[in-house]
Amino acid sequence: MNLSIIIPLYNEEESIGELNKRLKEVLVKLKINYEILYIDDGSRDTSVKILRTLSAQDEHLRIIELKRNFGKSIALAVGFEQVLGDLVVTMDADLQDDPGEIPRLIEKINSGYDLISGWKYKRKDPFVKILSSKIFNFTVSLLSGLKIHDFNCGFKIYKQEVVKSIEVYGELHRFLPFLAYQQGFKVGELKVKHNTRQFGESKYGRSGLKRLSNYILDPINVVFLTKYQRKPAHFFGNVGLISFGIGLLISLYLTIIWFTGQAIGNRPLLFLGVLLMIIGIQLVSMGFLGELIVRKDISKDKDKYIKKQ
Ligand code: UDP
Ligand code: MG
Repeated sequence: MNLSIIIPLYNEEESIGELNKRLKEVLVKLKINYEILYIDDGSRDTSVKILRTLSAQDEHLRIIELKRNFGKSIALAVGFEQVLGDLVVTMDADLQDDPGEIPRLIEKINSGYDLISGWKYKRKDPFVKILSSKIFNFTVSLLSGLKIHDFNCGFKIYKQEVVKSIEVYGELHRFLPFLAYQQGFKVGELKVKHNTRQFGESKYGRSGLKRLSNYILDPINVVFLTKYQRKPAHFFGNVGLISFGIGLLISLYLTIIWFTGQAIGNRPLLFLGVLLMIIGIQLVSMGFLGELIVRKDISKDKDKYIKKQ
């Protein structure tokens, strides 16, 4: 198998037929072995019915139906586990990504990359979405040190090895290029055409609280996971030692004062000092617990550190 296409979809009944037709036109011209994996993420419309009809007439199509709507990250993770192709393309089902760009993606990845991320250069989305996405991309690029413009683009191409070694869950699909980059894979980008959504509506027209976790907690989570996943004692240990140190200094200061004959029992500073020392000890021990947990799975997969030819 040379190429696998993964398409996560949720209620995209109007787009599927047209998308499949355009995809086939492009893939047939490429004259390669390919498979198209449609991952139905718990659609409630007729998407599954349409897909079943299509796949009954076409052996290149595979349909995977999820039990309920789990979100795009899980849909992609399921696809990543199932694919057989040496190269793996992911794209959205809503016709915003243009199948005509696939040959260019293949050409680019074959020029020496492990992952090429699409860059929706002229993005056809509502203004608010473009703006928040600009802020998101700027922050992630700054935090991660990976200089690409569009982390969240659904249109990407990967070598098989990459999709088999990254873990994506929650809302982490928006960080895929970074997750790969952290593992040492070579990540590049390519400007791709982007169309206005013709049918249905965006599944990500979301509000307040979700934004908070998407734009603040997720970046922190990702940086933490990738920088300290293999050495949790360093993160918890550093913060813990600082807290313990400050607490200790406060207590020493109060001890000296006590020896000079002053009462310290009613000083708020005493509570702060004790609190900081206890928190510090707890954080350091949490770090050690973390080390015990990661030690187990680090020893399992040393293969993924080695460069494949
Ligand atoms: N999608 C999905 N599960 C979800 C939400 C979205 O599989 O819970 C799919 C959706 O059907 C589409 C792709 O993910 O194929 C991108 O979603 P959408 O077009 O709504 O995002 P936008 O382009 O507005 O960022
Ligand atoms: Mg879309």
